Amino acid sequence: MSTTFGILIPSTGEMIEIAHRTFDIRWLNSLAHLLPDETEVEPLTNTAQGIYTIGDIKKAMFEKELNKTKIEAECKCEKPILQEYTRQCGLCELYIDRVRHTLLTN
Ligand SMILES: [Zn+2]
Repeated sequence: MSTTFGILIPSTGEMIEIAHRTFDIRWLNSLAHLLPDETEVEPLTNTAQGIYTIGDIKKAMFEKELNKTKIEAECKCEKPILQEYTRQCGLCELYIDRVRHTLLTN
């Protein structure tokens, strides 16, 4: 579910769009990341889904980056324990590439 987040400027009543979330989350305003973490944001096009402040947006971005790194990393264990459904190794929790996957299952 995609959501655009905004910040209401109290003095003008203007709503500034600051971030957009689809599968990823990205800034729409280059100054937004400079705001204090506790600055409240409002979901404009959908429900908040756990994002209420600038700090929540930064955290969501950080977690996305972590996941990306994890997906790219591959298992190098000598004797990996293959998890059938996730294709991850039960020892290191990294992914087992297609070639090793074939070797392990045949
Ligand atoms: Zn492993």
